[in-house]
Amino acid sequence: MYTAATVSKMELSLRNTLTRESDVIGPLDGATFRFYCCGPTVYGPAHIGNLRTFVLQDVFRRFIESLGIETCHVRNITDVDDKTIRESQRSGLSLQEFTQQWQRKFTNDCQALNILPPAHEPSAVAHIADQIRLIERLIDQGHAYQAENGSVYFRISSFKEYGKLSRLKLSGIQKNASDRLVDNDEYDKESWRDFALWKTWKSEDGPNRWESPWGPGRPGWHIECSAMSMHYLGESFDLHSGGIDLIFPHHENEIAQSEAATGKPFAQHWFHIAHLRVNGEKMSKSLGNLYTLDEVVDRGFQPAALRYLLLSGHYRQPLNFTWESLAAAASTLRRILGHAEGVDPELLENAGDTSLETFIFNPVLEALCEDLNTPKALGVLNVGLQGLKALDDGAQQAARRDLARILQMLGLPWQFQKSRTETRVPPEVEALALQREKARIAHKWDEADLLREALLKQGWEVRDEVGGFEINRTEGNV
Ligand SMILES: [Zn+2]
Repeated sequence: MYTAATVSKMELSLRNTLTRESDVIGPLDGATFRFYCCGPTVYGPAHIGNLRTFVLQDVFRRFIESLGIETCHVRNITDVDDKTIRESQRSGLSLQEFTQQWQRKFTNDCQALNILPPAHEPSAVAHIADQIRLIERLIDQGHAYQAENGSVYFRISSFKEYGKLSRLKLSGIQKNASDRLVDNDEYDKESWRDFALWKTWKSEDGPNRWESPWGPGRPGWHIECSAMSMHYLGESFDLHSGGIDLIFPHHENEIAQSEAATGKPFAQHWFHIAHLRVNGEKMSKSLGNLYTLDEVVDRGFQPAALRYLLLSGHYRQPLNFTWESLAAAASTLRRILGHAEGVDPELLENAGDTSLETFIFNPVLEALCEDLNTPKALGVLNVGLQGLKALDDGAQQAARRDLARILQMLGLPWQFQKSRTETRVPPEVEALALQREKARIAHKWDEADLLREALLKQGWEVRDEVGGFEINRTEGNV
């Protein structure tokens, strides 16, 4: 928490996707700024485009906290939906085993990128009862109905404001009853119809079924986020965020379900982060350009360099990723961190207002206050640092302290790591370790021992921990 007087006088003005206007960010209840970010769907590793969203949300949070605003940040884990069920079946693991391994991976990526953990990180599976209750409320008020196929759908025609976030034109409502429903979690704007809140069990769902008043089945993806955000933040809260691709249908549907059920405004402010492109193209599996953090690290880059690159574009504009731009980001960050050398982080706690805040600090803050303009903030920071050498020693020390505070605000490190301390576990090693864990849980000790030896031969040691295990490189193999 930063306490300098100049900081608390400033306000963040942020563009609201819902109104297309700028809002001054502050808590509705005058105490805590409550915000919800749609978390990862844990069916594979996050790609760097997903990570752009989480890094920008992290800067948003760090920045408003630095303005003296208390926050309550909720980011969920989507561990049941069309994709997690389909991919867990393919992998042969249970839905829980499958999603937990990817959740662990996501947590590691966030740590490497210095993304602060949210105050609450709920699992959708753990909140199915909340989702059922919300669907019951919608049915009671005529906003939802069970169709002949057994699934429950949201009745779009019952919510007059449907389309207000994505500015969807509601002409040409499907008249034919069989065309009226959509079961997929994801679909495009042309295919909008009554969407599924509760999906009745089908054989392809395998063992993944939960009891409900409408028979066994599972929730739709959209209802999960409405139920979890209301559970932790109340029926009306400050801000809801996600990647721009979530505006439709996910967030549009969340608004419809939530406001129809409660009769109150859902989130006050909607904060969406634009796409990351790669070499000028949309990222996609078929183009082979869906890069992960592991690939970035394997090419010799530190996660902080990726974080810097992701901040070098404005959140509302698409950002183009190339390996050259990442190399340039790494070298600029290295130069900036050269200036921070020798600053004692503990000094920050008592920095007060003795530093040269007008020189480097205020221009950066002003840039961030204008719609979280991170590229401008980095620009004025780099310009400010060019003037550093002309200062006397005392002033230089104060300016470096300002720099350290800025780095903390942006979630950038104090220094580049001298050596790679974190070790990445290859997927085949993780798979073996998981197999061993399964054997251990089933008390198949011989099999578990054999698998432990196989891992040791490959230079990996498994240690059992409460509720799981840890894998580390054996000595001499680091
Ligand atoms: Zn969501």
